[in-house]
Amino acid sequence: MSEGNPLENMLAQMEAARPYAEVDDGVFERLKHPERTLKVTLPIHREDGSVEVYEGYRCQFDSARGPYKGGIRFHPAVTRDEVEALAGWMTWKTALMDLPYGGAKGGVVVDPRELSSRETENLTRRYTEGIRRMIGPDMDVPAPDINTGPQTMAWMMDTYSMYAGYVIPDVVTGKPLSIGGTEGRVEATGRGVAITAEHAFEYFQRDLESATVAIQGFGNVGSVTARLLDRRGADIVAVSDITGGVHNEDGLNVAALENHVERAEGVAGFDGGESIGNDALLRLDVDVLVPAALENVITTEVARELRAGLVLEAANGPTTVEADEILRERDIPVIPDILTNAGGVIVSYLEWVQNSQQYSWDLEQVNADLERRISKAFEETIDAFAQREAPDLRTAAYAVALERVGDAHEVRGIFP
Ligand code: NAD
Repeated sequence: MSEGNPLENMLAQMEAARPYAEVDDGVFERLKHPERTLKVTLPIHREDGSVEVYEGYRCQFDSARGPYKGGIRFHPAVTRDEVEALAGWMTWKTALMDLPYGGAKGGVVVDPRELSSRETENLTRRYTEGIRRMIGPDMDVPAPDINTGPQTMAWMMDTYSMYAGYVIPDVVTGKPLSIGGTEGRVEATGRGVAITAEHAFEYFQRDLESATVAIQGFGNVGSVTARLLDRRGADIVAVSDITGGVHNEDGLNVAALENHVERAEGVAGFDGGESIGNDALLRLDVDVLVPAALENVITTEVARELRAGLVLEAANGPTTVEADEILRERDIPVIPDILTNAGGVIVSYLEWVQNSQQYSWDLEQVNADLERRISKAFEETIDAFAQREAPDLRTAAYAVALERVGDAHEVRGIFP
């Protein structure tokens, strides 16, 4: 097995949890295979008049529990295996949160920093056309992920609605408020990470208010996590993004950093600390390490030298299976991605429910529902860890999720 393959990692995580979950062998076999993956080619006109053809994917991993659900990523490192792994992780995440959804993921192989706004819009619309036969409010509901956001969702919703001839807001979630988005969606994933941090600190009987935190990735998830943990009294001592990193032992001024990132479009150049690279950030002696960028950043090499007291997986798949084993041997707890970053899909679900009822909730109601659901999943994971004598929290979370998806398959049976 190659350490860097996310699909192999995801399948190995499933296998590791199998002895701790009651799942029929035939059903388990089924769950190892995504239901379908569509590859699309996407020609667009560049600003200079030339034509460039991009590639995109949409994987629908499983729908036993409800419509497929999962984000769309624009990134040069997108591959079919990565999209399928991410679709699998969505399946386990929606099941662990007990949402009536399956799992999916989409991606376009592109560095959006090389595109103008118009080119990004055209690529988004062409991608939406490419996958439109497989998405829909009752079929498959995309959402934002890396390098996509509310504007991307607005273009997708508009393109899909144009084909239908009437407006269909609930084909995507993570929309701007003016077209059916929900209060609290932009902050939802980071808020879920912060709530999970509180529960984890309580569980391990540690003090969050005096904790030091390092965060890799300062996009949607990383920046909101930093802001909320800072408000809870923790010291954010280091953050990095694709432009660079910054470190200050006494704690960074998160509000000033956010202002800088907005102006300078990146962390690099922030004068509130010393500059730091990813390698050093991942090995800092801190209470919490929050990977909030890409997968496979905590490798065996990093795991051996990691000094954090706890890893909170805000990104999807940041720890390789081999690294996970080392962290387990070294007694460094990892709060798994399918639990830690589930705030986004919870609030996406709430957006979809509000759209289908043509009714809107206030921020207080959305946040309360998010907190209730993710807290319940945390407790269920802890209970499974203790009762099933699982080796770690990831295995416990997977066991709960696998059983839920497995049960749905068993009662539905195999068609025909
Ligand atoms: P984003 O595009 O808003 O931010 C990604 C961040 O990672 C950016 O700051 C980028 O500069 C940084 N980054 C990229 N390459 C890097 C590198 N080599 N070193 C350091 N930083 C680097 O994306 P996001 O929505 O914040 O997603 C981050 C992670 O969280 C992803 O794994 C995503 O799948 C996961 N996630 C996102 C959501 C959501 O609602 N957006 C929900 C669940 C999980």
